[in-house]
Amino acid sequence: MNHMTVRIPFVDLALQHQPIQTQLQQAIQAVMERGDFVLGQALKEFEVAFAAASGVEYGVGVASGTDAIALGLQACHIAPGDEVILPANTFVATLIGVIRAGAKPIFVDCDPQTALIDLEAAARAVTPQTKAIIPVHLYGQMVSPRQLLDFADTFKVLIFEDAAQAHLAEREGYRAGSVGSAAAFSFYPSKNLGAFGDGGMLLTRDPNVAQKMLSLRNYGAAQKYIHVETGTNSRLDTIQAAVLHQKLPYLPQWNRDRFNAAQHYDVELAPLASSGLIPIQNHSGEGHVYHLYVIRVDDSCTIQRQQLQEELTEAGIQTGVHYPIPCHLQPAFTHLGYQVGDFPNAEMLAKQILSLPMYPGLNHRQVQEVVAAIGDSAPTVPSAPTAALPQPYAERRCWSAATA
Ligand SMILES: *Cc1c(COP(=O)(O)O)cnc(C)c1O
Repeated sequence: MNHMTVRIPFVDLALQHQPIQTQLQQAIQAVMERGDFVLGQALKEFEVAFAAASGVEYGVGVASGTDAIALGLQACHIAPGDEVILPANTFVATLIGVIRAGAKPIFVDCDPQTALIDLEAAARAVTPQTKAIIPVHLYGQMVSPRQLLDFADTFKVLIFEDAAQAHLAEREGYRAGSVGSAAAFSFYPSKNLGAFGDGGMLLTRDPNVAQKMLSLRNYGAAQKYIHVETGTNSRLDTIQAAVLHQKLPYLPQWNRDRFNAAQHYDVELAPLASSGLIPIQNHSGEGHVYHLYVIRVDDSCTIQRQQLQEELTEAGIQTGVHYPIPCHLQPAFTHLGYQVGDFPNAEMLAKQILSLPMYPGLNHRQVQEVVAAIGDSAPTVPSAPTAALPQPYAERRCWSAATA
């Protein structure tokens, strides 16, 4: 392929950092001068600040979002023999976390319109061994807290949120990370709140879970040199925490920027629905923080996903696919015994989804440019049938009504 000039990148981190460069440098400088690089002052300050911003009592910084899931599940006393329900369409780290905690992953399908876990399917997957459900607040949209709490109450399982894509997302009066027993966040650079490297955090309002997490991230030492469990070495670097703490006050505005860009996409893309280009739906209103803006290239479309992606690349527009292979079909996990056809919605999405450029500062004109390029590649065919949409999740009976 020719070398293409990127006109609109998928994300633009420089745009985010440039205006606050001086304060970021000063925060890093301060850590350097104090020399408290591991478990330092700026880490404790950021843990308190991020937990408070999310409406939760305790935050424990770790080395990555993956560690926040793996160690967080252990801190919630998930152990070998336990079953944990999770959606098949998530980033593989959710699955890795469950496996590292020693539990048995039980996949369920998703709602085809929102791409979020289908709680009716989850209800059918519950067994006496089920200890937890992991709702993944995918693309920045929370799974309904009301339905989750109802689910947890009915089946006596704990909720462990994967909020790696949903910093400060809201729904039904809840913030991401404040619904369940605990929640995992990632500060991978391109996440809504990103470090200058890897990082993660567990949020919880349970002091015992927080206490155990402090031990697990620090060689299982509840006190220095007294090792009460195996644990590991997984801390959020003080320098990363200092950077994240400087960025945190800007996060609400950055999330609003993403939401506004998403609204522009919704409006500009509406005429293309008849061509089979259908955005993943927002069922949570303004609390969606749009880590990603994702469309489906439906079977009725004149172009396939891969070809559309290639044509956009040639037009200088970067896109992504999150994710091309659902977890249950990943080569490393064939031993779990799942097959093609087990989760039709997740498999359909993996084939059809395309993530469009999305970052704070992406403006209306750029959104129009992206959509114009999509329209050029996938022209409306007047006779094309309207894409057959599955029945909306919200209009179906809620799982509790179905199982009560
Ligand atoms: C990014 C991400 C993770 C893992 O976070 P890392 O910091 O990359 O380890 C877990 N789950 C989801 C849904 C993610 O998007």
